[in-house]
Amino acid sequence: MDRQLHCGGGRLIRQALTALVATVFGASAFAEGCGNDGVAVQVLGSGGPELTAGRASSGYLVWVEGRPRVLVDAGGGVMLRFAEAGARVADLNAILFTQLHADHSADFPALVKAASFEARTQVLPVYGPAGSRHMPATVAFVRDLFDPARGAYRYLGDYLSPLSKTAWKLAPHDVRSKPPRLPVGRKPADGEPIPVFRNEYLAVSAIPVAHSDAPALAWRIETGGKSVVFSGDTSGAGDALARLARGADVLIASHAVAEDAGEAERLLHMPPSRIGEIARTAQVRQVVLSHRTRRTFGREEDSAAQVRRHYGGPVAFANDLDCFRP
Ligand SMILES: [Zn+2]
Repeated sequence: MDRQLHCGGGRLIRQALTALVATVFGASAFAEGCGNDGVAVQVLGSGGPELTAGRASSGYLVWVEGRPRVLVDAGGGVMLRFAEAGARVADLNAILFTQLHADHSADFPALVKAASFEARTQVLPVYGPAGSRHMPATVAFVRDLFDPARGAYRYLGDYLSPLSKTAWKLAPHDVRSKPPRLPVGRKPADGEPIPVFRNEYLAVSAIPVAHSDAPALAWRIETGGKSVVFSGDTSGAGDALARLARGADVLIASHAVAEDAGEAERLLHMPPSRIGEIARTAQVRQVVLSHRTRRTFGREEDSAAQVRRHYGGPVAFANDLDCFRP
């Protein structure tokens, strides 16, 4: 990836044009994806859990030949950006969650409801982490929302019920490592990437990453000879993320804390220097810093310098609706 398609002043001009065209032709007349060819990752939400004007919480779209194939995370505000990107739920091959904290999942039920107005006909797989004492597993989370008998949104239970005759259904899955079979006395190595699914367009794998007591996954999407890796929120402890990101064209890294983050913050999030170390170890081709928060706004120069202490490739800061092309 060597260029950022939309940023800064261009973004403002584009938004003004979008508003003008939407006023004249109606909102659907202006599709704002990342072009119609090749592979691109579009930032739907570059913010975190705080209220931040102009930024949705975590969300990303991977476009392949002009179609939005994979949605990674669905935090608050992502539904609006998804619409502004000109995407349709009907085109998605899968939804992937890096974790189930609210800033990564709150718009998920809204997108499911929105899909009821589209002509989707395929099962929609939803992949995310297994559970813990503090967090539900992904299957339990989707059931808590849509179970026809007891879900919070049971009125949408047809999308989960095996008995319903809807045109499409949700298919939630927990992603967990299978313990490897090893000779007696040999310790298992740190986790290897887990192949999660593949189809004619893409191959998707994941690896569990440390994020305090919340189960979390980093994701890798391979398509058209390109690879995009999403760190999700993680302390960056261990070598899991570097293993998953090895040789990737783009690493979208969660940049929630600045370099002077304290011990408690570092249990949850990577300081910029750790992002740089991982990018160097993995030899990724570009780093995009996203999941930006009040702890990092105004510190961009220092954060970029901290990444560059270790990593010599291009470093960019994400804004909502930016497109990055491998
Ligand atoms: Zn987060």
